[in-house]
Amino acid sequence: MLAVSPSCSVLPSLRRVAAAPGAWSLSQTRRVARNSRRTYATHAEDAFRIPLIDFSKYRNAATAAEKEQTAQDIVRGFTEVGFIYLNNHGIPQETVQDAFQKSAEFFELPIEKKAELAWRDPRANRGFVQVGRERVTQSADAEEIKQLREKAPDYKESMEIGRDWDHAYKNFWPREADAPGFRRTMLGFFETCHELHVLVMRSIALGLKLEETFFDNSIHEQYHNLRLLSYPPIKTQLLNGDGQARAGAHSDYGTLTLLFQDSVGGLEVQNPHTGQFQPATPIPGTIVINAGDLLARWSNDVLRSTLHRVVAPPAKAISETEGITPARQSIAFFCNPNQGAEISCLPTCLVPGGKPKYPPVTTEEYIVGRLQATYV
Ligand code: CA
Repeated sequence: MLAVSPSCSVLPSLRRVAAAPGAWSLSQTRRVARNSRRTYATHAEDAFRIPLIDFSKYRNAATAAEKEQTAQDIVRGFTEVGFIYLNNHGIPQETVQDAFQKSAEFFELPIEKKAELAWRDPRANRGFVQVGRERVTQSADAEEIKQLREKAPDYKESMEIGRDWDHAYKNFWPREADAPGFRRTMLGFFETCHELHVLVMRSIALGLKLEETFFDNSIHEQYHNLRLLSYPPIKTQLLNGDGQARAGAHSDYGTLTLLFQDSVGGLEVQNPHTGQFQPATPIPGTIVINAGDLLARWSNDVLRSTLHRVVAPPAKAISETEGITPARQSIAFFCNPNQGAEISCLPTCLVPGGKPKYPPVTTEEYIVGRLQATYV
């Protein structure tokens, strides 16, 4: 199932890729949709699979053709599903494990210590966020979000870290004696994730038939956000209420999100063709990467920003009537273009004479607007 804007000049090559065995061309899909809604839905589910990409074939490509093929596979993943699993991404496993270890140590601190570092301001978007404070949603209406938050708080704690040299906003760090090595580890991880972001954006540029370095000067200021997440173990009854999940359905705001999952999982991705949520089962050693709203907008919706949510994994029975859901940890790195970068339709995502779907916007205008509606 191909779901890209028909006004995009990268379409012909994507159509060729999509016509490979097992995939669907636009005309095939239309024919089937006419003939049988049921068949259509079944095949749309089959085609909606998060692809596993071997990124070493881009980073250390033997030939230019191999590099280009990998770049096209990546773009195809973001075009059709909006998500990819990235394997052989170049970040050593020990580096990821260290970040998880230091994150776990941080969340084990007494609540008073964490409360001293409380998140205060969407422009800063830094600090500790208590369980239930954030309610991620697609709604931009503050009153509706308030009602949703009261009904179904998100059961989690997070710690938000921005670039450390920002002239306006400072990160909130725990005292070194309380969380030894935390600051150093997270600053290193921030830098490592930024470097991977640059590489993946280069592969996207290549896959979209742009200069490989097209995005470089729009993404080098590290206007990113490292989010450590801890989902405490909770009684399952609390999660099963109306509208309650560990994180409600949402899309992300920026260019790409790098998600490091533990083995518990819980991430689900919505198939836009059927509305069904499908689990993004953790694959050890891989990073789940999804495209955010700003990248979708930049590409005139050629790349897809897909709705996703975190649901409770299966509960363990603790009595005849109650279950408990295990703790889960994850680390998300939300990548953004530069604060002042103007996001306007990419030249290869518009046919000559075509009209972009969105007016230009700067990163800051867009993201601050979204964050202000999400937090109290
Ligand atoms: Ca997300």
